[in-house]
Amino acid sequence: LVIAGDGKEREKLQQLAITDGLTKLYNSRSFYTQLELEIDRSNRYNHPLALLLLDIDHFKDYNDSYGHLEGDKVLVHFSRVIQSCLRANDSAYRYGGEEFTVILPETSADEAKTVAQRIRASLEALVFAPQEDERVSKTISIGVTEYCGREKLTSFIKRADKAMYLSKQNGRNQVSVLCNQPPEKS
Ligand code: GH3
Ligand code: MG
Ligand code: MG
Repeated sequence: LVIAGDGKEREKLQQLAITDGLTKLYNSRSFYTQLELEIDRSNRYNHPLALLLLDIDHFKDYNDSYGHLEGDKVLVHFSRVIQSCLRANDSAYRYGGEEFTVILPETSADEAKTVAQRIRASLEALVFAPQEDERVSKTISIGVTEYCGREKLTSFIKRADKAMYLSKQNGRNQVSVLCNQPPEKS
């Protein structure tokens, strides 16, 4: 494929390639690229790096009750609110269907937990009107973790996922933090 055009068109195409069409957040491909970069930076400078993994609660029920298009509206609004809770150097991604990730550079697990709580509360406050006379709110479960020196990207993501599942297990609509314990000194 040859992409012709001036610099502006090329820039537009490049932007499209890293953006999720529905939510306009970054897509999962750019998540992996950016996370690699941030992990390198964190290792080089020994700075903290935090990751959030977010999964909408009982989203299948919402689709089943009101239809896929109404579900899509929730994804769009949730994405806007998540974005609005972040600082300039943070970035939000649509990780999968109704799952999101947030990369928080220069951020410890404690600080990331505060951000996650702010996101969780802001999303819970949104009210949708999928049908006449129906007002519904949706919630999200969040996992928080901090990068642990020199570990692989996959184990970092897995821990965020585990933390998110803890939130699901403990009743959903909550934030859980999981951090790798440094090995005990003997
Ligand atoms: P849980 O609280 O355990 O996360 O329950 P859940 O129903 O959200 O989880 P599950 O993984 O069983 O289902 C995810 C649902 O998300 C399945 C599908 O209906 C919905 N979904 C995934 N991608 C999209 C999408 O792009 N648009 C819409 N409208 N729904 C989607
Ligand atoms: Mg899911
Ligand atoms: Mg879900």
